[in-house]
Formats: sequence, structure tokens, C-alpha cells
Amino acid sequence: MTSSARGAISAEELAAGTWWPILIVIAAIAAGCSAPSAYRTAASLPATEPLAPAWQTLGESRGGRPIRALSIEGNRGGALGPRVALIAGIHGNEREGARHLAELLKPLATYDGTIRVYEDVNPDGTSRGARFTSKGVDPNRNWPAQNFLPARSRGPAPLSEPGVAAVHADLQRFDPELVIVLHSTSRGPFVNFDGPARQYAESFAHAAGTPWTVQPSMGYPTPGSFGSWMGIDQGVPTLTIEFERGCPEVESRRALMAGVGAVLGIDGLPEVPRSRPFVVD
Ligand SMILES: [Zn+2]
Repeated sequence: MTSSARGAISAEELAAGTWWPILIVIAAIAAGCSAPSAYRTAASLPATEPLAPAWQTLGESRGGRPIRALSIEGNRGGALGPRVALIAGIHGNEREGARHLAELLKPLATYDGTIRVYEDVNPDGTSRGARFTSKGVDPNRNWPAQNFLPARSRGPAPLSEPGVAAVHADLQRFDPELVIVLHSTSRGPFVNFDGPARQYAESFAHAAGTPWTVQPSMGYPTPGSFGSWMGIDQGVPTLTIEFERGCPEVESRRALMAGVGAVLGIDGLPEVPRSRPFVVD
């Protein structure tokens, strides 16, 4: 069948909704019956069309949900800046920053280093708006830190939670030089940090603007936390970004874009003017 043999779409076909397969055939013929766009190779893409970074599945939660990560290599191949890991979700009831992740990915592409983005350590918790995994374990107490303490709420051993284990294994391979983790708390907003990360914490808080502060301590013990493992034990600068729980989207978006932009030195992410000096507690 060709477009000329078939002719125009009839009024009956239009009314019956049976016209769309005809359009597909016509479009295929017009395109020379080439392979569908999903099969295009990098070489066939126009130079101006960037390849979208693809999510990789690292493992599965107990509930069967994928644990995913993607790598964004900066506009100069990712070799000109530190390797940065961004963990968007770890507690399922703290989505204030993670809800802007898709929006954040585009400006991150202008960073000169490589960024490894972890979508969600605890998708089972996220699906029901809960802090804990489906096994009742806090995914921020299940890391192989020297201060890990077994407990029902922390797991019988480090990495007992599939999501934590999958992200841990991938981080070992990626070997980050700076890590940013998104959380929220009713005591927020503030930036907590572990390891040699004070300057990054101050940079984030300054750019995020009033009322953000820097708090070197959470004020309570956090055995087996990600910051204990990555920041204290391994000495990798680790920022724990604590948004104010339940804050409006406009607030979390502004703070996330400005704060991450300032920490990474990315042009195009706005730095918000400050109305007063920020406080270091
Ligand atoms: Zn949290």
C-alpha cells in the first residue's frame, strides 16, 4: 500500500478513529521506512542533540522496585572536576529535594566533572511515604561505618537492606570525591556535614539563603549513618541537606538549585541574593 493508492482519509474514517494507522504507514513511507527513532545510533544524531543520560538499574528493593543511578559526564567529558555523588532519596517521607530531581539534571550537565545520581535508596519507603524500609530498617543507619550498631531498626548487619547494599557497591566503584545527600526535618532547613566538607556546607547554605544555616552536628547519635561511613570513616566530604519538612515547592526548588549550583560552581544555576549573613551553629 502507498499513500497515493490509499488517498485522503475519509470522513467516515475520521469519525470512526480508524485513520491513525494510515498516518503511521504514510509517515513510515515518507521516512524511507528507516528504523524507528529508538534504534538511532549516536552517530546518526544531529550534533546539537545531546544524548540523554540513561538510568541504570543497580538492584532491587525487597518490594521489587528498581534501585537506579545515572552518570552525567560534564560538558568537557567529565574529567575537569571532582567526581560527585548525589543521593536524592534515602528516607521515603523526605521528598522535599528529590521531587525536583528531573529538573536538576539538565543544569547538572554543564558541570565539568562527573556526577553519579542515585534516584532513591529506599523506593519501598517512598511508595508509602515512610522513613523505614519494608523490613522496618532505617536506611540511614545500615551503612558499614565503624560506629554501626545492630538493632531491629538498624538491621542485623551493615548492608542488610538491598537498596543500601546496591548503592554501596556502586559507590565503591564510582569512588566519589564529594557526596550530597537530600533529607528533610521539621528542624530544617540546614546543612549538616561529615568529613572535610565545611566549606561546601557554607557555600550551599550561603547560596540557599535565609533561613538556611550550617549545623556540624545533628545533635544526636547516628550510628551506621551514611555520613559516618563516607564522611568520617573514609574522609570524603559529605553534605546532608536537610530541607524544612513540608516546605513549599518554590522554597525547596530555589534552595536546591542555588545550593547545588554554588557547591559545584555551575553557571546557570542561580545564586540567590542573601538578606542577612548566614549562621554557623
Ligand atoms: Zn532523613
